[in-house]
Amino acid sequence: MVLADLGRRINAAVGDFSSSSAADDSGIEAMLKEISNALLESDVHFQHVIKLRNSIKKQLAEQADASSRANKRKLIQKIVYDELVALVDTQAEPYKPKKNKSNVIMFVGTQGAGKTTSCTKLAVYYQRRKFKVGLVCADTFRAGAFDQLKQNATKAGIAFYGSYTENDPVKIARLGVEKFKEAKYEIIIVDTSGRHKQAEELFVEMQEIDDAVSPDQTILVLDATNGQKAQDHAKAFKEASNFGSIFLTKLDGAAKGGGAVSAVAATQTPIAFIGSGEHVQNIETFTPKQFIAKLLGIGDIQGLMEHVQSLDLDQKDTMKNFSEGKFTLNDFQTQIGNVMKMGPLSQIANMLPGGMGQLMNQVGEDETSKRIKRMLYIMDSMTKQELASDGKIFTEEPSRIIRVARGSGTSVTEVEMVLFQQRTMARMAQSTKGMMGGAGGMPGMP
Ligand code: GDP
Repeated sequence: MVLADLGRRINAAVGDFSSSSAADDSGIEAMLKEISNALLESDVHFQHVIKLRNSIKKQLAEQADASSRANKRKLIQKIVYDELVALVDTQAEPYKPKKNKSNVIMFVGTQGAGKTTSCTKLAVYYQRRKFKVGLVCADTFRAGAFDQLKQNATKAGIAFYGSYTENDPVKIARLGVEKFKEAKYEIIIVDTSGRHKQAEELFVEMQEIDDAVSPDQTILVLDATNGQKAQDHAKAFKEASNFGSIFLTKLDGAAKGGGAVSAVAATQTPIAFIGSGEHVQNIETFTPKQFIAKLLGIGDIQGLMEHVQSLDLDQKDTMKNFSEGKFTLNDFQTQIGNVMKMGPLSQIANMLPGGMGQLMNQVGEDETSKRIKRMLYIMDSMTKQELASDGKIFTEEPSRIIRVARGSGTSVTEVEMVLFQQRTMARMAQSTKGMMGGAGGMPGMP
């Protein structure tokens, strides 16, 4: 994901500032300019960039007591992190479906944004979480839309409703939702059309379907590759459909993502899910802090934990350790092992610190999978005492690293990489614990 470039550039700008000998004022100006340029080039709308820049400047001036450059660097990183989080954090909770009732979810968005794909992803997501799910195809405008939904649904083993002969989308939506409600389906997802001869017709149709099915939640599917246009799209749809959350698609590709960030800020509507590939499993939940942490390349331990937790796997000890601010090699082994069982790898790779997500973009899923398996071999070659440790034991006795590398058929560098990742995550566990206690601080930042 190109978003990672933004993180790299922001970190580099802050790094340049703290290592340069330029006077504070001119150094700060140069840094702010570089950060602003990076944001603009990532398609963040200029209004937000100006606001962010002024806010960073103001906070820096207010907190001028941070004496050393090193302290300033930490302060700036924290301010940038907080400001970016504020931009995508609308404080609104995305809709949470309830069990034993019919939750109707309507999808809207322009054609090609990834609506039909995302409907199926969401259906599978809820089905895995033990909801009874049905899909309704109310897109009669695009030839082949019903076939596409039917194929996706059949492959995923999900009930569907649609028609080859009826061409009134409002009627199909109403009948489909009625049928699934009668059969006590808990999640009913309605896919709508994304294009019409006239834009107004599309919006009128959306409102008619809305009236017919009274959705509990409307989700706008937004293409992250849309750049600056995303904000305008989102605003237009907001007026017509008042969607309650956003499904952001194609973040795996060349998306710069800034347009979507601006869309969230402009409509004050939260992103609920992210599409990170064409496969039905490439869906991730969105939380502002994790998203920005990932954006700035500092890993996403919380996301990893939540993901594994949602899959109902055994990880009680790890959760206990984590809540106490600990993360041992054993915990690392359990987490990776669990997620490997459930796949897809693309999800875990992006959550790991140390550039795993970037690695996967470079070498592909198969190669990343091989490398992650080697990480597991490495941990399999550790003794119980080593696994239960926080990793310091290896720094104290480096010969252990050589033994583990030999035993696992890997290299010293690879063992060191595992230790580095575990250490980074342990630091995050520590700072998350601190944050929960209200101490502030940014996870994983040096
Ligand atoms: P619709 O017209 O809005 O229903 O869009 P489709 O669901 O037909 O998707 C349009 C194209 O985008 C298809 O080729 C999908 O495979 C692709 N697509 C959808 N979501 C994603 C995603 O998260 N990542 C990638 N790379 N492609 C996606």
